[in-house]
Amino acid sequence: MSTHGADVAEDEGAVAPGSEWESELYRMSTRQFDRAAELLVLDPEFRTRLRAPRRSLVVNFPVRMDDGGTASFTGYRVQHTLTMGPTKGGFRYQPDVSLGECAALAMWMTWKCALLGLPYGGAKGGVRCSPAQLSDGERERMTRRYAAELLPIVGPEQDIPAPDIGTGEREMAWFMDTYSQQVGYSVPGVVTGKPLVLGGTPGRLEATGLGVVYVLEAVCDRVELPIREARVAIQGFGNVGGVAARELHAIGARIVAISDAGGGVVSADGLDVAALDLWVAEHGSLAGYPEAEHVGPADVLEVPCEVVIPAAVSRQITADNAGRLDCRLVIEAANGPMTVDAEEILLKRGITVVPDVLANAGGVTVSYFEWVQDQQRYSWDVIDIQERLRRQMRAAFTRVTDAVDRLEVDWRTAALSVAIEHVAEAARLRGIYP
Ligand code: NAD
Repeated sequence: MSTHGADVAEDEGAVAPGSEWESELYRMSTRQFDRAAELLVLDPEFRTRLRAPRRSLVVNFPVRMDDGGTASFTGYRVQHTLTMGPTKGGFRYQPDVSLGECAALAMWMTWKCALLGLPYGGAKGGVRCSPAQLSDGERERMTRRYAAELLPIVGPEQDIPAPDIGTGEREMAWFMDTYSQQVGYSVPGVVTGKPLVLGGTPGRLEATGLGVVYVLEAVCDRVELPIREARVAIQGFGNVGGVAARELHAIGARIVAISDAGGGVVSADGLDVAALDLWVAEHGSLAGYPEAEHVGPADVLEVPCEVVIPAAVSRQITADNAGRLDCRLVIEAANGPMTVDAEEILLKRGITVVPDVLANAGGVTVSYFEWVQDQQRYSWDVIDIQERLRRQMRAAFTRVTDAVDRLEVDWRTAALSVAIEHVAEAARLRGIYP
């Protein structure tokens, strides 16, 4: 299967196929895809179909600001594949959100859902904005208008957004209310990550960080690294990094370094995570915390330890710093925290990289549990949720390690191969309409 129109792109002014989604992150996601597709000797038809997003929406919309004026915002939603069921993925508020970033993140969501056996394709969205500069009222009006712009392509059977960087329960409540007002009745299943009282689920907030810990426990068993003796460095002290730090500290691992956007703290004897929580609650960031040595936000990645957990933003481990990481394992809690070149360097150095599509899949897994509960109008308790999460993560872990052993490849290529094969088989069986 070729991409029709490739020759048209030679014409002056025409956009080359695929360049609509051009970005560093999209190039990263397609390079990873290509590597796995080559290994699988994937039929060119499915290689072409799965390489580009199925549907992309870009919207420009006005929002009334507090000073009486209006501001124009650009929002995105990308749905990578419609083959597996509704699409699923968060939306983020950040100044550098772009169509290309959403396309990469949507593709990773497809592989994550397939790996975890969830009946979804991947999606991602966002609004280009500086959330800290918006008042609560402006943020609400922007969220409601973004939701209204997305109405034709979202819904509990179509596309189910969730929180991501810069968004949380509040935005999900406004999104759900806007959708429900339009259709005339309450539709809790249109988003996940909602407040409990609106049909959210217990256990969603901790799910991603907890999933990271479940995966790390399983990896430690496999590589015979006692987790209680492990020194851990974490970049990011937000929802994911914070939960992972607390859980790991509670089970006896030593957190030797952690950072947020304001800076990093290091202590070879181990940091007191509860004291860090108190400090951040009072001062807004880790900067200035008295009981540790201070370094830059990315320097924590280079602190000597057994386990590095990037849990902040994308492309933090690059060809520049990969040679200086001093650890045995990297567990990708953030999405896309490592460039392809960096990964090659780490693998050559014998460092195991556990990819994002496995390591941070706890969030979408519990989002799936939330959606199932909403659709059934029936709720499960937190013990039930955590037990199901552990089982589902363990099963995905085994799928990946089986592929690592069978194909004799790195963990990312193994994970993507399992996921791509699953989606390609579904696409093959469904055929092409009409
Ligand atoms: P968050 O906004 O709650 O926290 C992000 C943390 O990273 C904050 O502590 C922030 O200060 C810090 N940070 C930002 N830039 C940094 C930098 N350059 N260096 C060091 N620290 C920096 O976000 P989150 O929900 O914890 O998400 C973190 C990552 O995990 C993102 O990549 C996100 O896509 C991914 N993820 C989140 C979930 C989820 O359920 N929340 C699920 C899957 C993946």
